[in-house]
Amino acid sequence: MIKNVYLGHGGYGQPIYLRRDGTVSEQAEEERQRPSWDETFMAVAEVMARRSTCDRAQVGAVAVLGQRLIAEGYNGALAGMPHCDEVGHDMLDGHCVRAVHAEQNLVTQNVDLSGATVYTTHSACWPCFRLLVAAGVDEIVYRVPYRQDEDTTRIAAVVNASVKRGFRIIQLRRYKGR
Ligand SMILES: [Zn+2]
Ligand SMILES: [Zn+2]
Repeated sequence: MIKNVYLGHGGYGQPIYLRRDGTVSEQAEEERQRPSWDETFMAVAEVMARRSTCDRAQVGAVAVLGQRLIAEGYNGALAGMPHCDEVGHDMLDGHCVRAVHAEQNLVTQNVDLSGATVYTTHSACWPCFRLLVAAGVDEIVYRVPYRQDEDTTRIAAVVNASVKRGFRIIQLRRYKGR
């Protein structure tokens, strides 16, 4: 059987192969499942989310700088305090307020987040968004739009204002990977 024929490398260092059917592939068959950086870091955020003990929102977040993981967090009760899955939720205005949010736990790891990208499984609430901006985070990449409420409006207002004023406070991006 004739194998794919290696032709060389493309502009991004990707191997280019001539397939048996005569078409050109820019990725070897065996490399096709290799995750992109976006997919890699979102996958780590999802593993962090699985540690969350409030099943109303299992949220995970990781901070990345120059393709390196520098901090991580998940939605969970204060250290040493009972978890929601042990004692039930602590509800206020329709939200469980026991857990320290994933982004808050990430920021309190005391790592310099200037210029970092934060991958979160769920879009940030207003207090977390505010905290990430204040910490110097450059970009937030989220998978699930968690809330559509006044928090979303406040966040959009900040993002739009920063565009209008000609400097970027923070960039928001919805995750498009697998
Ligand atoms: Zn809870
Ligand atoms: Zn939050």
